Amino acid sequence: MKLISRYTDIADAFSVTDTPTPVGAPEVLLWNDHIAEELNIDLNSSQQALYFSGNKINSDVAPVALGYSGHQFGHFSPRLGDGRAHLLGAIVDKNNQAWDIQLKGAGATPFSRGGDGRCSIGPAVREYIMSEAMHALGVPTTRCLAVVASGEPVYRQTPLPGAIVTRVASSHIRVGSFQYLATQGDVAGLKALADLAIARHYPKIEATGTERYLAFLNAVMQKQIELVVSWMRVGFIHGVMNTDNTLVSGETIDYGPCAMMNDFDFDTVFSSIDHQGRYAFGNQPNIANWNCARLAESLIPLISDDEEQAVELLSSIINHFADQFNQAFTEMWEQKLGLNGSQASDNELVSELLTLLKQYNLDYTNTFNDLTQSLKDPQMMPAVLSSWAKKWLARTDEFSYGKMSEANPRVIPRNHIIETIISDFIEHKHSAQLDEFLNVLKNPYQADNEISKYQDVSGDLDKNYQTFCGT
Ligand code: AMP
Ligand code: MG
Repeated sequence: MKLISRYTDIADAFSVTDTPTPVGAPEVLLWNDHIAEELNIDLNSSQQALYFSGNKINSDVAPVALGYSGHQFGHFSPRLGDGRAHLLGAIVDKNNQAWDIQLKGAGATPFSRGGDGRCSIGPAVREYIMSEAMHALGVPTTRCLAVVASGEPVYRQTPLPGAIVTRVASSHIRVGSFQYLATQGDVAGLKALADLAIARHYPKIEATGTERYLAFLNAVMQKQIELVVSWMRVGFIHGVMNTDNTLVSGETIDYGPCAMMNDFDFDTVFSSIDHQGRYAFGNQPNIANWNCARLAESLIPLISDDEEQAVELLSSIINHFADQFNQAFTEMWEQKLGLNGSQASDNELVSELLTLLKQYNLDYTNTFNDLTQSLKDPQMMPAVLSSWAKKWLARTDEFSYGKMSEANPRVIPRNHIIETIISDFIEHKHSAQLDEFLNVLKNPYQADNEISKYQDVSGDLDKNYQTFCGT
């Protein structure tokens, strides 16, 4: 396993060398063979447990904790940083692409602010399942290589078994990373970070000077739009879209309080602390827009010495967010409904459907799946949609089924199933149910095997479902 270092030379303030705190009895609970193979990681089970608990450190590279700021629920914290994460370094895969390898839950760091730097098994397994599911759903995301039990308790409201998650990401450069350097007035660091992000994620940007960083902002904005559109296509609610949880690569990160929407409602919120609905399903585009504006503010010193002029130039990009999002969002509905081209009346067709979904408390995933299947078997058409469907069917053609099958998953990681499986897993440190579920989630658009139990919308738990920032 060959690790390289990718952040240490940017700015001293940005990354602090810090060693994980060893744990008592590391044991591999989940191991992602596919990712291990891509990354050429060839270790036996006891080596896996040692390296991915933080008990053994690769001698090539010193682990670091990254500094970042963050707007959490709109309030700015200048110094958050990796309080429970260690970046071990990066591994170059078979296609010559480098991936950050990060341990989450491997002990306190200089950024822990009194926290224990630990993580319990439940949220660790949740991150593993959700990120694998999202990847298979075609949503950009960080991945999980491993979950290793620590053999030690972590103390939350009650003692819980501890675990370390290994996260794999194309980078850990956040909007909050830029805010961190901007807040310190570190213009050289800011420029180095922007250049690094461009080289890593947007290598097609060749412009220099002011144009370079405007192009960067524009590219990040496009990726955020694509990301939120793909979340909304599959019914995903991130739950904590703080600027520290927004990667400039456009990958989904931080699966703490996320959940999948059941009955369609733009106002759906599951996070126990999101009292105002800031991160509700339908507010995600507004927040992505807001987060991009925070990135823009951080870039001011790279644009012009004249602050007013810099703000004007940066705003000229951010001001396009809404139009560009709406265009991508319209295309998403066209895909989900398999429409033949686009027509001015399509917006009305979509909003009429969404009104019916809300009025009749229809499950988002199952309804779009039923509509898809109804093209082959009219019996699948939900009765309450039949009148609306006359207009819809007039807009479909022989390609509609194919388009809809690719846009509408048949199986998603439903909240109540995840909770049942996680409880089973914590109890037995293994779960045949989890293995089966992960297997089904690999092909969410085909799911030819026995999937009906995963489509079940089991009422009680989901109606009162709450999620927590617990990872
Ligand atoms: P998150 O909810 O993962 O986005 O975390 C927000 C901030 O709180 C980050 O700076 C984390 O590193 C920090 N944090 C969360 N939980 C802990 C913990 N148990 N110990 C130390 N820091 C933590
Ligand atoms: Mg976070």
